[in-house]
Order: sequence, then C-alpha cells, then structure tokens
Amino acid sequence: MLSVVPSPVTVRAPSKVNLHLAVGDLRDDGYHELRTVFHALSLSDEVSVARADTLSLRVRGADAAAVPTDAGNLAWRAAALLAERAGRAPEVAITIDKGIPVAGGMAGGSTDAAATLVALDALWGLGLTRDDLDEFAAELGSDVPFCLHGGTAIGTGRGERLVPVLSRGTFHWVLALAKGGLSTPVVFRELDRLRAEGSPPRVGGLDSLLQALAAGDPHALAPLLGNDLQAAALSLEPALRRTLRAGVEAGALAGIVSGSGPTCAFLCADAAAAVTVSAELAGAGVCRTVRVASGPVPGARVVDNSHH
Ligand code: ATP
Repeated sequence: MLSVVPSPVTVRAPSKVNLHLAVGDLRDDGYHELRTVFHALSLSDEVSVARADTLSLRVRGADAAAVPTDAGNLAWRAAALLAERAGRAPEVAITIDKGIPVAGGMAGGSTDAAATLVALDALWGLGLTRDDLDEFAAELGSDVPFCLHGGTAIGTGRGERLVPVLSRGTFHWVLALAKGGLSTPVVFRELDRLRAEGSPPRVGGLDSLLQALAAGDPHALAPLLGNDLQAAALSLEPALRRTLRAGVEAGALAGIVSGSGPTCAFLCADAAAAVTVSAELAGAGVCRTVRVASGPVPGARVVDNSHH
C-alpha cells in the first residue's frame, strides 16, 4: 500500500467561548494575567493545505473580505514558523473556509493557526509530538494552544498554560454574531480605563463552575458564567446589552459576551431550546446573524475525506 498523504489535507478548526474569564493585573510584558475556562464549540472554520510552488493563502465565506491573506494572517505565520523549524520551504497553498465570525471574540485567527500546524504536520509527514505542537502554538498566540487541545480547559498565564477540565455530556449554545468586530487589545485597554475610574464587576471563584461542568448541568452552569471583559465590551458597544437581554427573554438560561466580544453566547437547556432561542433571536433584530452550536468539541483535527 502506498503511504503518500493525499493533498489537500483538511482540518476542522473549532471556535471557543470563555465560560469564565478573570482578568488580573497588567504584567510587565504588557499582557494581563488571566484565569479562564475555555470551551471549544462546533462553530468552526475549515483549513486546507495543498502542495504548491509557493506560499499562498485565500479565504472564503461571508466575512472573507475582513481577513488578511498575507503574513498578517495567523495561519500564514503558522506555516512560515513550521517550515522554518522543519528546515523546508513553505511551499503550500492554504485555503480557509470561514465559519467563525472575524474579530468576534471566538479565537477565529488562533484556531486557523492551530489547524495549519496540524494540517502541515500531516501533509509534510513531520511526525510532530504533542509537545512540539504545543510549543509552536504558544509562540503563535495565547489562544492557539487551546485551539489545538479543544474540549474544556482552564487556561492561566496569558491563557496558554492549560489543564483539562472534566465535563459531562454536551452543552447547547446560541451565538449572536454582531455587525462589526472588536479589537482584543482595545477591549483590554477599555477594561484598564474602567478599572482606573471605578470597579467594574469581577468574576468569582471557579469551584462551583467546575462542579456544574462535571455534572453536565446547564441549569447549574448558567448563573456561574462570567467574563471580566464583558463590562469593557458593553462600554464600547452599548447595543450588546439589548442583545444579551433578548436572548434571555427568548428562553436562554444565560447570556455572556464571548471573550473580548462582540459575539454574545447564550447557554440553553437542551438542543430543542437552542433551536427555539435561535429562531426568536433571529427575529428580534438585535444582531447580524444567529448560529446554533454545541460543546465541548475536539481541538483542530484532520477531517476524514475517505468516504467522499
Ligand atoms: P480572540 O478571541 O482570540 O481574541 P477574535 O476571535 O476576537 O480573537 P480574530 O477573528 O482572530 O479575533 O481576528 C482578529 C484580527 O486578526 C482580525 O481583525 C484580522 O485582521 C486578524 N486575523 C489574522 N488572521 C486571521 C484569521 N485566520 N482569521 C481571522 N482573522 C485573522
């Protein structure tokens, strides 16, 4: 049997929501100390890599125009980094099918970088270890290691130090995608500003949240969801308050701003409730578009095309 890896290789790249995001002090290196619980969601991008004469990148999907197609793209940087470390030329054509909102607080760029590492490891037959991949991921960005791992995990440091969290069953979510995006550094700066002039709410401890995840109980989990960046995102985009309210009025158990926003994530009691909430929210005119998703899902993985 021939063991030639078919080209292209396609990798599914999950998005994430932070179930808990505690933003600590500003460090000397300009990053904030974080304690977060990442949760990988089924809303995803697909990243394909094919052998080519030169490095190229194209992006397809509704948001494609907002995504850089050069070294400004994290997937491009992932390919360049891996090629350099593997001592080969980055001769590959990358195609990203964008399902994740751009600048939406759902780690879209980070997950494309994670997916590119996984895809090129397979295409080039590098046989990288988990540790190798983790190291390259952490070099590319704070959220990239989680996008490799998937599932549900506690992240500390800049979010790159991960410990898996025990979680039972599947949680059902509705995502309200906003018209524009929010820049993550701008949202952190807004939080610093709010903290300098007052005391915006801070999330509490993690123990009960971890228990609710282990029990697989969305009703217990809902009131424990929390995000220190939410006050800053709402300060920059006051209309998101209306979006959050509309989701809960539509029957969601709770709604939070995802990461740095502006996407809002609504936890629902079950799959049927998520469909109902998504339909109502879509009709309420409080967001650009609505998606149903579930989690936790695995991290960036090669898609098996052998049955197609
Ligand atoms: P995070 O949740 O990790 O803070 P985000 O989901 O808010 O990130 P991204 O979608 O990753 O934000 O995009 C942030 C910016 O990064 C975009 O405005 C875009 O210019 C740039 N970018 C670079 N690579 C990508 C990519 N592969 N997909 C989307 N945006 C990218």
